[in-house]
This record gives sequence, structure tokens and C-alpha cells, in this order.
Amino acid sequence: MTQKDATQTFPDKLLSGYQRFMQGRYADERDRYRDLAEAGQKPHTLIVACCDSRAAPETVFNSGPGELFVVRNVANLVPPYAPDGEYHSTSAALEFAVQSLRIRDIVVMGHGRCGGISAALDPGLKPLSPGDFIGRWMGLLKPVAAELQNSSLLTTAERQTALERISIRHSIENLRSFPCISILEEQKKLRIHGAWFDISTGELWVMDWKTGDFIRPDH
Ligand SMILES: [Zn+2]
Repeated sequence: MTQKDATQTFPDKLLSGYQRFMQGRYADERDRYRDLAEAGQKPHTLIVACCDSRAAPETVFNSGPGELFVVRNVANLVPPYAPDGEYHSTSAALEFAVQSLRIRDIVVMGHGRCGGISAALDPGLKPLSPGDFIGRWMGLLKPVAAELQNSSLLTTAERQTALERISIRHSIENLRSFPCISILEEQKKLRIHGAWFDISTGELWVMDWKTGDFIRPDH
């Protein structure tokens, strides 16, 4: 495909959406965008969310520009601290948010019907490509997923929801393996939260920081 063809095939849906954005939200928040461009961003919260198109944090939390620093990956996982010279995109985003932006709240946000979690619970799943990037990535949850698979008392749906929530606690543990995060949390300069969004009902469940249980927040 030539470069010209690529330009011509830029999706119409995106261009018409962009037009509506410029006439609506951008027009309404022009000053805010200008201020953010001049002063730089100062988001209040870092959110680790899934790539899933149905669970965008900016939509769920009704956030404007400059409010949320969002890192999205398959199944909203935080890998453990591993300064091994490899390419760690999520760790890079965490490092920037905490050390440069001085974010003071981190939310690991999972969601219902997560395809990544469902893949982690299916030991017979074939790789989607020879690289098996999803298989390797979801391997972060292997020990936890294996325990749930072995329980015959749970239905498939119960296993799925359980792993979606357990993986949030697991990611929070991994967050604390980053020295810059654990030190700030100990000094009470950083707070870590868990949340789970049910895409079918719109319910938001938040993690009780004492028990780890997921509860509906009071409004
Ligand atoms: Zn997901």
C-alpha cells in the first residue's frame, strides 16, 4: 500500500468523531486545553486499566483532559519490579507518573468479562500468533489461575469474576515491589486503590483497603 492509499483510508468514523470533538468538547474546554499546554499536565490519579474498548477509565470516571494518567494493557496487570534491561512499558509509565508527575493516587481498575482473564483461565488456549504475547503476559497470573481452575466448586462465571478481582490484588502487590512506590506509600505520600467495573450493569466496585474485599462505594 502506498502512503497516499493509507491517507485515503483513514477511518471515516474517527474523522467524524474528531469533528464532533472539536465542535463540542474541545470548544467547551478550549481554555483548559490551552492552560494544560502551557503549564503542563498535573493529573491527580494514575489508573492501570485494561485495553478493553468497553472499560475506558476517562469515560467511566467522566474525566476531563489532564485529570487522569492512564496506562492500559491486556487485563490491567502490573508486572513485578524487574530492572533487567528489557522493555517494560507499564513499569515506564508507573515510573514517570510517580517520580516525575508526583501522582498521589494509583488505581488498578479491572472489569467484568475481561478477555485476558478468560484466556488466563483456559489452559488449552492456543497462541494467537507464534510470539504468544498474550500467553506470556497472562503468565503473570499463572499460579493464581491454576488454583481457581482446580476448584470444581466454582462455575466458569464465578472463576472469571474471582480472577478479575484477585488479579487486581495481585497487581497491587506487584506495585509495592517497586521501591519508588513502596517508599512513598510508607511515607503516606501515595495511596493505592483497586476498582472493578461491571460493563453489563455499569456498577463500580471498589476494594476495601483493609480487607481486600470489593464493595459498592457509598455516594
Ligand atoms: Zn480486560
